[in-house]
Amino acid sequence: MSNYHIKHLEEYFQVYRKSVRNPEDFWEEVAEEHFFWRKRWNSVLEWDFTKPEIKWFDGAQLNITENCIDRHLRSRGDKTAILFEPNDPNEEAEHITYRELHERVCKFANVLKDQGIKKGDRVVIYLPMIPELAISLLACARIGAVHSVVFAGFSSTALATRINDCGAKMVLTSDGSYRGTKTIDLKGIVDEALQHCPNVDTVLVAKRTGEEIPMQKGRDKWLQPLLDKAYSDCVPEIMDAEDPLFILYTSGSTGRPKGMMHTTAGYMVYTAYTFKNVFQYKEQDVYWCTADIGWITGHSYIVYGPLANGATTVMFEGVPSYPDYGRFWEVVEKHKVTQFYTAPTAIRALAKENLDFVTKHDLSSLKVLGTVGEPINEEAWHWYNDHVGEKNCPIVDTWWQTETGGILISPIPFSTPTKPTYATLPMPGVQPALVDENGKEIKGNQVEGRLCIKFPWPSIARTIWGDHQRYKDTYFSAFEGKYFTGDGALRDEVGYYRITGRVDDVIIVSGHNLGTAPIEDSINEHPAVAESAIVGFPHDIKGNALYGYIILKETGETRNRDNLKKEINQLITEHIGPIAKLDKIQFVPGLPKTRSGKIMRRILRKIASKDTSNLGDTSTLLNPEVVEVIMKESL
Ligand code: ATP
Ligand code: MG
Repeated sequence: MSNYHIKHLEEYFQVYRKSVRNPEDFWEEVAEEHFFWRKRWNSVLEWDFTKPEIKWFDGAQLNITENCIDRHLRSRGDKTAILFEPNDPNEEAEHITYRELHERVCKFANVLKDQGIKKGDRVVIYLPMIPELAISLLACARIGAVHSVVFAGFSSTALATRINDCGAKMVLTSDGSYRGTKTIDLKGIVDEALQHCPNVDTVLVAKRTGEEIPMQKGRDKWLQPLLDKAYSDCVPEIMDAEDPLFILYTSGSTGRPKGMMHTTAGYMVYTAYTFKNVFQYKEQDVYWCTADIGWITGHSYIVYGPLANGATTVMFEGVPSYPDYGRFWEVVEKHKVTQFYTAPTAIRALAKENLDFVTKHDLSSLKVLGTVGEPINEEAWHWYNDHVGEKNCPIVDTWWQTETGGILISPIPFSTPTKPTYATLPMPGVQPALVDENGKEIKGNQVEGRLCIKFPWPSIARTIWGDHQRYKDTYFSAFEGKYFTGDGALRDEVGYYRITGRVDDVIIVSGHNLGTAPIEDSINEHPAVAESAIVGFPHDIKGNALYGYIILKETGETRNRDNLKKEINQLITEHIGPIAKLDKIQFVPGLPKTRSGKIMRRILRKIASKDTSNLGDTSTLLNPEVVEVIMKESL
């Protein structure tokens, strides 16, 4: 039996039981057999959730890039490591082999060193989805610098806040970026941000769009000439297991973003392990995750997890709608993609379009489909399963967070039978618990509660950068001795988990706890509905009542609104019960979303409660204009 690669359900249960009975032995075996260490650990795990302090493989020494690149050179030197698919389908895709990746990372690392970056320094990366982005993460890791990637769709204000929060003195960016038909002036955004960042003394600029841009003398330098001059080998910095690898800010769906700090060894072991199992990666596979590297999904499952397994990982610069809504499927066909990993928001957007965009492409290379980021509603799940997977590809609904570093709950394809809207079972080493509002663990099945994790797993974030107290308050104070995820979940009759939404979003109506996901799920079943969001608002008798914001499909626009409202409440009554009927329904042109595509319910909640004087931090909002419209038409 291999702990590292689970191949059937019985094996999963065996491995899982072992991982819980003796987590240290379990992870030690995985770490020993599958990674390259410069020095062995003194202890596998030391932890104390009250402080909180967590150390995995303490005393060990390694460099993560040796594990992601160097050790593959002998056996996989000519294998494609990164397959870059540009925004413009007429521009040629780029196949970067492991050998080339080694050279490019080394050169980049030497440039960083020449520019004065040392172990422990923070480097903010504000780059589009071009190879330099992945390479720059690895270049930082090569020399022990701490990278902090800021998604290149964020505003200058959001960028400046993050640069200052992590104390970076260098920013990596490009002249511009392509997104579909648009060209974005990235360097201009950086210039604006840097007016508020006195500590940044160097900006390295990659060339992508070729746009004429101002370069500030002494501060801004073109990257390419420096790379051309750089030496093509770079001795890796030997890092301690618990040295910081990166800082990454959460999406900001619920409030001020938190700079989660991840460390080296545990993060490497856990992302590699989960990548192998959740995607059942095999040597010849071509794996594609459509996330941006600016999110944790991109860090763990475009860069580190796949490369640690010697995989071929696709990096896509463009958007799903350019040149048309078939782009994803065109790329799958073109590169014979075997594993495809995306977000429910993308699936819903594509499901709204003509089915021809999917059916005209040959998707027979696909083996596994994945989703992450939000609860996936049943309709979207079936669309994905029927039309993309052609009922042949298990869907892995992966639940995890920026804080968790890697996937914690997910089916293992070909082992765990899937169930729509269920993330199903915990990964080996992960010990979930549902607790009630008093922190008491709710045992048994067919129960619902707040989702906590009782025991550390290797890639748990170690702190919030510069604010350990906030880390403790946010995750370890609500329920003693447990990591609190902020999400609610139910456990069904066989022990499968379903994430029901964020606990802050749970609405208590006449004493009943109602999660948002199942209600929205039933609304979305209505053929005229494209998407919906539910929030609570104060009600004299019920305590709270439900307010629904609903986007109609084009075909629904012409329908009588009063009838629609009745039918929607009818559906809710059938699926959940009359308690969950909506008191108010507002049809809206769009919903306020974060740039990672998640609904910002806290804004909708304020509008529904008529408390719009202070909407809180909206700097991560994708479409602020829609907030105005919703406010104007609110009921
Ligand atoms: P912030 O913490 O700043 O409010 P965020 O929670 O949106 O932002 P992320 O770490 O990117 O930032 O997202 C993690 C959250 O996304 C989870 O806590 C959960 O609410 C949701 N989520 C992720 N994957 C799933 C999934 N498969 N099913 C349901 N919900 C998911
Ligand atoms: Mg969160």
